[in-house]
Amino acid sequence: MTITDVRVKIIEHSAERLLAFCSITIDGVFVVRDMKLIAGPSGPFVAMPSRKLCAHCRSCGHKNPFKASFCNQCGVQLPEGAPPRDGDGRLRYYADIAHPINAACREAIQHRVVQEYEAELIRAREPGYVSRYDAIGDEEHRMRR
Ligand SMILES: [Zn+2]
Repeated sequence: MTITDVRVKIIEHSAERLLAFCSITIDGVFVVRDMKLIAGPSGPFVAMPSRKLCAHCRSCGHKNPFKASFCNQCGVQLPEGAPPRDGDGRLRYYADIAHPINAACREAIQHRVVQEYEAELIRAREPGYVSRYDAIGDEEHRMRR
């Protein structure tokens, strides 16, 4: 696997430890967006794109995140849901949409993303700097032609 492009959107003054949003292109043909670079205790790490795990409302059938207290559709109070547990027995409120299946791949992605984040910090000091992260739609337009 070759990461042929990395796009970074630096998040300044984040209340959380979010440093940047990023996307990677694999082998020039597959893009994964909505990855996050997060400041961890032992350096920045990449969080994979994820979705909130949901449960159906018993009243109207609407899907609500497990942490919701009230249904987003009908407003009924929701019973305390128990989300599934991971292999270590911890409750899972999120599930990865795309993720590496081994440590070597995770390391490779993380290394590239951190490298690009650091380069982006330098580029961001230039006048007229624009992040390429939001311009990724260009590729989608090209593909539809
Ligand atoms: Zn409902």
